[in-house]
Amino acid sequence: MIYLKTREEIELMRESALMVSRTLAVIAKEIKPGVTPIFLDKLAEQYIRDNGGIPAFKGYKGGRGVPDFPATLCISINEAVVHGIPGNKPLQNGDIISVDCGVKKNGFFGDHAYTFAVGEIKPEVQKLIDVTKESLYLGIQQMISGNRIGDISFAIQQHAEKHGYGVVRELVGHGLGRNMHEEPEVPNYGKRGDGPKIKEGMVLAIEPMINLGTKNIRQLNDGWTIVTTDGKPSVHFEHDVAVVDGKPEILSSYAFIEEALALVK
Ligand code: MG
Ligand code: MG
Repeated sequence: MIYLKTREEIELMRESALMVSRTLAVIAKEIKPGVTPIFLDKLAEQYIRDNGGIPAFKGYKGGRGVPDFPATLCISINEAVVHGIPGNKPLQNGDIISVDCGVKKNGFFGDHAYTFAVGEIKPEVQKLIDVTKESLYLGIQQMISGNRIGDISFAIQQHAEKHGYGVVRELVGHGLGRNMHEEPEVPNYGKRGDGPKIKEGMVLAIEPMINLGTKNIRQLNDGWTIVTTDGKPSVHFEHDVAVVDGKPEILSSYAFIEEALALVK
């Protein structure tokens, strides 16, 4: 069942989404060679709790025999696609890290992600970052009343594949609301005109996961981390988007992150 949101609910969801945006901006200032993912995770958790939110990933249920997710952030480095567990190995110059964060506030979830460069990265990896972010915005442009989910999926896939990149199939975007994962699923590949109809009040987490090489992935033995099978880098961007007056309104924002990055450059 797809839960459509009222204007009031969308305003509450904007608060949750922006809390994630601000959390990502707090850690953006700290990302540099030598810093550990676990340090970034502690900063994020503190910021969320200080601001009356609840870290939504911490304690997220694992599958059979898999421990619950132990951290506030998913930090996925280089060939890790998503769901990386923050560890204590320092970041190195040339790494990229995808940071995904979930927050619950006022009963609603925010869930969004950004991929950061650590120091100087290769031009081909910067291009992957740029194209993945472009594909996110091209997908968002299709989130118009009367369109279908497949129109979002198609726009993302087309743009990524035009550059020869691998589009992850097994992991998808999703509806968002009083639950972190609601219907419908929002694949990053698909056909125009396929899937559920987009309606006023729909809120989606749209999240392309795009690989420099193969689209194929596997899971590490920790039960969480997803990596590319060819070991090439992967990028992940995610925004929370509502349909308001028939058009997409992005509830989360990269402005805080990008201001923070400009300050430390
Ligand atoms: Mg996410
Ligand atoms: Mg998500």
